[in-house]
Amino acid sequence: MKIIQHLAYRITNAVHEAEDIGQLYRTIQAELSEFLATENFFIALYDRGTDTISLPYFVDSVDQNEFHVFPAGKTMTAYVIKRNEPLLITREEADVMIASGEVEMIGTPSQVWLGVPLRVNDEVTGVLVVQSYTDSEEFGESDLELLTFVSDQVGLAIERKRAMEELQKQREELQTILDSVPALISYKDLGGRYLRVNRALADATGIPQKRWVGRTAFEVSPDLAARYHEDDEEVIRTGRPKRAIVEPFKTATGDGWLMTDKIPYLDGDGNHAGVISLAIDITDRIRVEQELLNKEEELRQSQKMEAVGRLAGGIAHDFNNLLTAVSGYTQLMLCRLEQDDPNRAHLKQIEDAAERGASLTQQLLAFSRKQPVQLQALQLNDRVANMHDLLKHLIGEDVELVTDLDPKLQTINADPSLLEQVMLNLVVNARDAIPGGGTVTVKTRNVVINGEASRMSLEAREGEFVCLSVQDTGVGMHKATLDHVFEPFFTTKEKGRGTGLGLSVVYGNVQRHGGWIEVDSEPGKGAVFSVYLPVAECESKKQEKDASVSRDLFGHSERILVVEDEDVVRDFACKALRDTGYDVFDVGSAEEGLEAYKRESGDFDAVFSDVVLPGKSGVQLADELLSLDPELRILLSSGYTDEKSQRTRISEKGLRFLQKPYSLADLLGTMREVLE
Ligand code: ADP
Ligand code: MG
Repeated sequence: MKIIQHLAYRITNAVHEAEDIGQLYRTIQAELSEFLATENFFIALYDRGTDTISLPYFVDSVDQNEFHVFPAGKTMTAYVIKRNEPLLITREEADVMIASGEVEMIGTPSQVWLGVPLRVNDEVTGVLVVQSYTDSEEFGESDLELLTFVSDQVGLAIERKRAMEELQKQREELQTILDSVPALISYKDLGGRYLRVNRALADATGIPQKRWVGRTAFEVSPDLAARYHEDDEEVIRTGRPKRAIVEPFKTATGDGWLMTDKIPYLDGDGNHAGVISLAIDITDRIRVEQELLNKEEELRQSQKMEAVGRLAGGIAHDFNNLLTAVSGYTQLMLCRLEQDDPNRAHLKQIEDAAERGASLTQQLLAFSRKQPVQLQALQLNDRVANMHDLLKHLIGEDVELVTDLDPKLQTINADPSLLEQVMLNLVVNARDAIPGGGTVTVKTRNVVINGEASRMSLEAREGEFVCLSVQDTGVGMHKATLDHVFEPFFTTKEKGRGTGLGLSVVYGNVQRHGGWIEVDSEPGKGAVFSVYLPVAECESKKQEKDASVSRDLFGHSERILVVEDEDVVRDFACKALRDTGYDVFDVGSAEEGLEAYKRESGDFDAVFSDVVLPGKSGVQLADELLSLDPELRILLSSGYTDEKSQRTRISEKGLRFLQKPYSLADLLGTMREVLE
């Protein structure tokens, strides 16, 4: 008996030792084979729902297992199941039952058949069968007793293993489903320990699934845990889901944003068991939205600047005329008054005020781009070096001026006086922002802007640029200030100290060079203003080198028709061309030009015309002349830089253009190119 009890114990234990249910069946057979013959051995399982029998384990010396699942019907196995009693039966006894129709035989008939029901909680779950095809004495009552004794252990062992496998399968299925969902899913128990996270979450955070399970957010993501915990607590406390929480998280590559739903996790009995989180990674979406917002803001800003610029330009023009009258008449009166006249001092005050007004309008005009730029190829580093002493003097003793100049800096096309204004204004502002001691750093460097970077700022373009930055360690700016710094008359300085024009002039100047300005600042963290100026094209570098007029550029008595309404300019152009060997014919308007051309029967080698003329424009004149002689060489010239549309029309027609004001070398060089 003791030995049999040990057998029962070993079968029970096999549940935990067997890797899978197949191995459990094999172990059961092996254990039993120590007590009885098991060369013909099978385990049948009964499915009450479908009234079918399956044979998950079948070892037989005669039959193959062809009966995986079959209707219970009147098989011997079904007989045992339905009566819930062991059965030991010889071939003869079986034949009687078959003859009476009580059972039907499937498979090869055996000499003796022994089956015991397997039970779980008094319910029959299957049958364990041994049989012999050769010896009807093979099994007897003692074998029946032995099998009956261990049948409960066998039934339970099989049931348990099956349940374990089923559970395992469900767990794996659940994980597979969770892992194929692109959302970030996790759930935690009431203590905040992660029970499970899905692959999307592990991938997004770069933390493997294994490292989450059993840990709390405080262990996995300490910086952000407090925030997550607060929401978890709320969901547990209220028992209600919390939707669309936008929260930060650490992605595998940096900082990101999630949109999360937190839902109470209820166990099978409906009790609170924890919190389920379902999140989507909205980092990209937020970035795009932010970029869009920035762009809109910048667009609004630049439109406003445009409008204000036009307005300021208009006012400055009229104002300048008034100031001319004020100071002119003041000077006339000063001439008439005696040296000791008491009114002289008053008039001097008026004259001073008018002068200050004039310099103000000068700034306004500069900002509104009405002053022509005088571009020349230059080295920005030289300009910074030239201004160094002046700037140092300006910022005083408490503030250190540091220059950090890139020795390989590229050449730019710029107007030196406008550049000086830019540097002066930026450095003075930097000084004003530093109340005690501090540092102002003027830096130059080459930058190449690619497509990606050019999208970061509205005004940025692709290409090669020289960047001039002025950085200070001063008080910095709030967003509210940053939004307005480039507006004319915007100042945070006390009356009399700030005009609010400095940065608007800088802005205008930089734009007129085809560049742009960026500012980066936070309260208490100083400010950096970065000016981007396009690198000069090779052609202009060449021009700079042979600025002196070589004899190669001289004319050979070519006949040139000059059309220019401005006397001083026309006189200069004519004198320059005549002195260098050209035959010049000059007029003051397009109409006169056309007349002269016809009168001389088109006997001109080239026409050199201003674009902005009274009546017909230079472009119209060119059109009409070309219709008379499509081969005619034409050179157009203008001083207004903002007449961009004309410029493009001119280059579309394939006409040459000379920017005013031009030097003698510019004029002769371009004229030679036109003629050749
Ligand atoms: P102003 O200097 O006459 O006030 P600006 O146009 O030069 O006019 O500057 C406008 C405003 O921008 C200043 O009043 C100041 O508030 C802010 N600002 C400019 N530069 C700096 C800087 N480097 N640091 C902090 N604030 C600055
Ligand atoms: Mg200023």
